[in-house]
Amino acid sequence: MAVRKLAVHFPALDRIHQRLSAAVRGYRCLREGVVECDGWCCRFTECRYEPWVWQLELERIREYLTRRGRPWPAWPQAGNCLFLDERNSCSIYPVRPAACRLHYCMPDGFPQNMTVDEHINSIIEQLKHRCFLATGDRRPARLRNAE
Ligand code: SF4
Ligand code: SF4
Repeated sequence: MAVRKLAVHFPALDRIHQRLSAAVRGYRCLREGVVECDGWCCRFTECRYEPWVWQLELERIREYLTRRGRPWPAWPQAGNCLFLDERNSCSIYPVRPAACRLHYCMPDGFPQNMTVDEHINSIIEQLKHRCFLATGDRRPARLRNAE
């Protein structure tokens, strides 16, 4: 599907992403004692996890890069995410996928804090619905397989 047509869904996608980020604000790192995020989740060989990404999210990233005259980066050898920069920061942070907004961050009191989880689940349902409307996708792909 042409990016031009998908672009009408970008504002709704951005709102869903922002809601998700707000919902996890104050979450803590899964790793005991880690106070400040150090990009561990973006170094896949270390954390042994690769985020999932919807096609619509991928096109949002593509548009973000194109608007800035930036090329789609190559996958690095090191087993890091292709969007992780040399300062261990996400180079597409404002448009990072939903999975990256969650990563392994955990609510205080997890897993007892189910109210928070239900809220996040409802936002993810909105995301699924939006992605299905936009591209017909019923499930996301792993970032590595999704280009
Ligand atoms: S897209 Fe950004 S936040 Fe997500 S894994 Fe890659 S560098 Fe990390
Ligand atoms: S994204 Fe969350 S779980 Fe991952 S390293 Fe950062 S604080 Fe830890």
